[in-house]
Amino acid sequence: MGGLGSGRVARPVGERFWEKVKYHERGCWEWTASSHFFNGEITESPRRFAWRDSKGPIPERAQVRPMCRNARCVRPAHLYLTEPREVEPKEPEPPKPEPVLDAQGRPPVDATLPGRRMTRLRTPT
Ligand SMILES: [Zn+2]
Repeated sequence: MGGLGSGRVARPVGERFWEKVKYHERGCWEWTASSHFFNGEITESPRRFAWRDSKGPIPERAQVRPMCRNARCVRPAHLYLTEPREVEPKEPEPPKPEPVLDAQGRPPVDATLPGRRMTRLRTPT
């Protein structure tokens, strides 16, 4: 009977979180409450909270994804981080102009011409 504390002790946020998780034998731990979790400071996705509560901080801009493809899964062992790719929009290359002249400045030779083919096959000695 110390009497110093108030009757209401704020429960650790982690405790509030994990008690809303349904633990399945086959592996996934499913989040059963609403799709967002208020961690005391901000509202975030349960997956992000699960990651930070068990593994530590999430790098800036990284996303927590379930590798088991279960959208409700918050089991840390099933989660992984992805970083958004730095995608730079590429400008489409302009179409190459049709070659009109070859390197020697002559018009391109049609290789299917029979005469040409014969000359090619002949080996100079
Ligand atoms: Zn899972």
